Amino acid sequence: MNLAIVGSGYVGLVTSVGLAANGHHVTCVDRDHSRVSLINHGICPLYEPGLDSLLQTLTKEKRSLIAVEDYNEITDSEVIFVCVGTFSESTNKTDFTNIIDAASQIGRVLQRAPDYRLVVIKSTVIPGTTEEIIIPTLEKYSSKKAGREFGVAVNPEFLQEGSAIQYSQSPDRVIIGEHDQKAGDTLERLCHELSSCPVLRTNMRTAEMIKYATNAFLATKISFINEIGNLCKNLGIDVYEVVKGMGCDPRIGDKFLNAGAGFGGSCLPKDLAELVLKAHQMGYEAQLLRSVLKVNDNQALRLVEIAKKRLGSLEHRVIAVLGLAFKPNTDDVRAAPALKVIPQLLEEGASVKVYDPVAMRQAKMILPDGVKFCASASDAINDSDGVLIVTEWDEFKDESLYRGKLVIDGRRTLNPEKARQVCRYYEGVCW
Ligand code: NAD
Repeated sequence: MNLAIVGSGYVGLVTSVGLAANGHHVTCVDRDHSRVSLINHGICPLYEPGLDSLLQTLTKEKRSLIAVEDYNEITDSEVIFVCVGTFSESTNKTDFTNIIDAASQIGRVLQRAPDYRLVVIKSTVIPGTTEEIIIPTLEKYSSKKAGREFGVAVNPEFLQEGSAIQYSQSPDRVIIGEHDQKAGDTLERLCHELSSCPVLRTNMRTAEMIKYATNAFLATKISFINEIGNLCKNLGIDVYEVVKGMGCDPRIGDKFLNAGAGFGGSCLPKDLAELVLKAHQMGYEAQLLRSVLKVNDNQALRLVEIAKKRLGSLEHRVIAVLGLAFKPNTDDVRAAPALKVIPQLLEEGASVKVYDPVAMRQAKMILPDGVKFCASASDAINDSDGVLIVTEWDEFKDESLYRGKLVIDGRRTLNPEKARQVCRYYEGVCW
């Protein structure tokens, strides 16, 4: 089939290579000129393990994937997936400007299309958005009727950056929120080609809510265990042992219960904040979800508090921050805990040296002046008065890197027993 993917970020590119590898002709549309050019040269514009080589094969050898800036070039596409970003870098919150723009441009494409086309919304949108905003925009710009002349479905994405290719090859479920049966049937056929995982068909609002509820639940687990971890620390208990004990209970499990510096990234914080806002607009105060955000707001800053307790004033102290990406194996720094920690250190008068294996370029565009970017972890650690580990990259796990240093670990990156033997001082954010 001829397929179009609008938006070539983490979700768009992973979706594109998955479909192209299955023999479809994929056209990626992105308004970012340099991104389009990189993709057409077989170069991955972002860091995601395994994506680079797949993209290279599909663009260069097989020529089954191309990127364009002009929506006119997707008039032949039978299915158009919308994967544009819904994250505002300036507010760290949801912003639907991109998706409304994409819907109006796709509407113009639909107007010229001679036969049925399906539009699939993969971007995360608050329940009701496809019905109330996206479909009216598509209808306005196409002068066609959804369900009759074109189809619409919501297909939320659950990939995790860092293991996105693996996830896209064997997802745990596919959710299809259909506007009409033909839309659902067309998308289900396509999904079955890619994987044999369970497919759940719902209406559009329910599909949108499944994505938000999933992210809200995951965020709740993290803030829950961080709160328990903060309590455990005061009681002299190791929260990681507590999780081992809790996790044996099949009703609980041990996934997503790693106490530490809190969650970041372009999804959990923004989706939770959007759900809280939506609830408020409807006259309901989502108290539990508000608290999840509040616990998270403070969690990363606990690293700085611990450093202050140990070093006294941070004025003129040299602090190394290891890890800028919001989690390992990605270059994504959006709403990363390090972006809370570093400004606070600067505010306290510290000199800040930073290092991340892949996210330095992205971080340079965001971090304030005065931060020193180092060539390696040891370069950052050398001559520092204290080391804060904010992201648990594998290369930070070698305790011998920290010989004689004061280390505050935000992610249980180090083995506490070994770390205590080599470090001058070792403390975890909640252990
Ligand atoms: P991203 O910011 O990495 O990429 C979005 C891309 O869309 C960019 O390349 C941008 O240039 C392009 N774009 C924006 N507006 C456009 C327009 N009108 N026309 C053409 N291109 C346009 O985004 P992402 O992280 O891939 O996320 C996409 C959506 O998927 C978001 O709604 C996000 O919440 C959701 N999601 C993301 C993840 C994740 O791990 N990143 C996981 C699940 C769901």
